[in-house]
Amino acid sequence: MKKNIFAMIIPSLLFTPSFVIASELYFPSQPAVISSEDDARLWVESQYPLLSGEPLTGLVFDKETESLAAKQYRFYQDIVNGKACHSTVVVDVDKKTHQVIQLFTHLKSVDQCTNAKLDQRQVQLDMMGDHADVTAARTVDAVVQVFDPDPVTQLKSSTLKYTQVLPQSVYQQHDNIEVTEINGVRYLSNSRVQMVDVKAFDIDGDNIQEADVINSQQGLTTSVNDFIYRRDIADYEAGDTAFLNTMAFYHIDQSIRYLNSLGFDLFSQPVRVDAFFGNKDNSTTYSAQNLIVFGNGMSADAEDAGVILHELAHMINYRLISNWEEGDTGAIGEGLGDYWAASYTYRNNPYYDIDTVFRWDGINTSKISTRTVNDSEAKYISGLEYPAHVVRNGSNVDQLWSTPLFSTLKAAVAEKGDIAHAEVDKIIWEGIAALGAGATMPQAAQSIIQAAHLLHPHDAYYAKTFRFYFQQHNILSNSIAYYAPQFLEKNDNHQSLTVDAYNMTHAPLGNVVIDINPSINEGYDFEKFNNHQALKVNVNLSQAPRCGERFWVDINTSINIGDSQKVQQQNTQLPFVMCKPILSLPVKDVNSLLVDAKAINDLGVVAVGEKNMSLAINSEDLLSDNFAISLDIEHPRISDLKVSIITPAGDQEIPLLVYENIKPTQFKRLLMAKYNNKLKALVGIPLKGLWQLKIIDRVPGEKGKLVSWGIANISSYQQPDSNKTDSKHEHKSQSLVTNNSKSGGSVGWISWLLMVSALFIRHFGHGKKD
Ligand SMILES: [Zn+2]
Repeated sequence: MKKNIFAMIIPSLLFTPSFVIASELYFPSQPAVISSEDDARLWVESQYPLLSGEPLTGLVFDKETESLAAKQYRFYQDIVNGKACHSTVVVDVDKKTHQVIQLFTHLKSVDQCTNAKLDQRQVQLDMMGDHADVTAARTVDAVVQVFDPDPVTQLKSSTLKYTQVLPQSVYQQHDNIEVTEINGVRYLSNSRVQMVDVKAFDIDGDNIQEADVINSQQGLTTSVNDFIYRRDIADYEAGDTAFLNTMAFYHIDQSIRYLNSLGFDLFSQPVRVDAFFGNKDNSTTYSAQNLIVFGNGMSADAEDAGVILHELAHMINYRLISNWEEGDTGAIGEGLGDYWAASYTYRNNPYYDIDTVFRWDGINTSKISTRTVNDSEAKYISGLEYPAHVVRNGSNVDQLWSTPLFSTLKAAVAEKGDIAHAEVDKIIWEGIAALGAGATMPQAAQSIIQAAHLLHPHDAYYAKTFRFYFQQHNILSNSIAYYAPQFLEKNDNHQSLTVDAYNMTHAPLGNVVIDINPSINEGYDFEKFNNHQALKVNVNLSQAPRCGERFWVDINTSINIGDSQKVQQQNTQLPFVMCKPILSLPVKDVNSLLVDAKAINDLGVVAVGEKNMSLAINSEDLLSDNFAISLDIEHPRISDLKVSIITPAGDQEIPLLVYENIKPTQFKRLLMAKYNNKLKALVGIPLKGLWQLKIIDRVPGEKGKLVSWGIANISSYQQPDSNKTDSKHEHKSQSLVTNNSKSGGSVGWISWLLMVSALFIRHFGHGKKD
């Protein structure tokens, strides 16, 4: 569940990228109506060859599952151990129209399944039925006393210590909580959750049940009335875990009731929970055994509702998809757990440290092991596998998945109010429900966006917002990325330039049609689009604004992946700035090699490479609201790099480039404060002093160099009619943009950041096209 993320800097690029277990998600274009498992099987057998080009027969029906708006017909392959090795075919069907929405497949070869085994580990539990006659059971209401969600949040203090005596104000009481009474004795048990005590468990799967350690056998907590207990950490070891049992019971119960209120009915059998299981700083959810156990390492995990809800989310995940294994399911599951914990706390305590999960448990362990659901630097790299908890390419993978979900939630609550909590939660679980074993992050993201369309057919807000945040973290990217020079010249009514188009997928794209507006060219039509195409474009500038203003070019791309699949439409808006700026100060030519990250040991622990460059400026000017930072970096893999600028006073560090997935190997741009919100923080400060540029490389293997950089006010622009005069004065040191797009020099730059902020404004309607 939760471990110190820094202790697990696991191989980033040292392991071999793995494409071994491929799963696929298809969106068929032909409507098909499916009303039974037989329909679904026949449809797959007839359509799969058209969708994938491969035959597929021999499907065994596994089960039918149901989400809010869809039904899933689940199959596995008819090969030896086909179920145990998680082979999966899921046909997702709209409940109303019975039409196929999407098809998910995770297919295996015979070899991959030879040694697979189902999880048949046995567990021996101490349960209510061992102590009382359950036929005499009745449901009664009781009061419970708990942390809600945890002491740190309750007291708004992160300096609390686990070992200190906590004041009564840290507790909350909740009434009308359903418990079970048998012959006057009350148990923490109801139709949703049942507290148990693990007596023995064959955890290692050798068919022998190991007796649980003595100090974790506490029996069951009972009461003749209410469940009002205080924590006493000395008592836990002595076997008195009544408070922990009450915590786990209450929080799991309320969360399942909330899930029911969303319309998901997944807990026909109560989930079984042991709130104090062994002295390990680890809590675990077991799908096949329908069991959640909480650990007691440095602290008792069940003292923190965040940990409890994280584990429950694993169980929700398993109830939707019982074989949630392989692919990126590990990291996705952890991210869902963190999201479920964080979103509960956010619903109830919206103003305190909303981005941190495990606020209490995380500060109680020897190392800080809280996690965040706001990791803006986490980026997905396709082709790698994402198991639970690891670090990939410098990012904690759990945070990589939780962050776009939680960012969507925060944006939606700001836009639509509290109703968004339930709506975002519904969309996420609906999207997950349509998947199967082997799902990857991009597939889960697409499935969630599809669910947003399904649940909100007349309101694209949720689909757009999810897409925006998944793109922020490269979990989704456009199939084709476009790069062009940053500046347009205003000397005529049109300008010819080159737009570089890159295929961002791993395979050639078929039937790509590209239409660029405003342009005086015809569109482009590619039967096969491989790696890169240089598009010669003549941009129509008859409507162009003044120098220094932005001019937008729209690129509409349609990609026909296959005759049986929906055509992909992509709309890209490239911002250009009219005329080249002239700066008040020269840029500094550096031509210095950067420091690459280094692998420290065989486990792939990485030391980031860091290089700091300084620039002394002797000018009495202040930075105006039209200043700019010039940056020219060459690196074979720009996504390795984070670049920040540090002010002379040392009080501000502003990120300029943050591990962006950029195809060209040169980042040569002028970052203009008027189009970059992060830079606005520097407006008004003196230019004078020693500026620093900090360049971090977090992935070993590729080295780059800093060509030049600078910071200055924009004093004017190269005017069309003074072009010739200007070019005379265009000394190398003073020209920030030495590559003239007309001269066919190196490709200029469209600011990814600029583009994102622009798209954000456009998607969310807080601004207008300028
Ligand atoms: Zn977990």
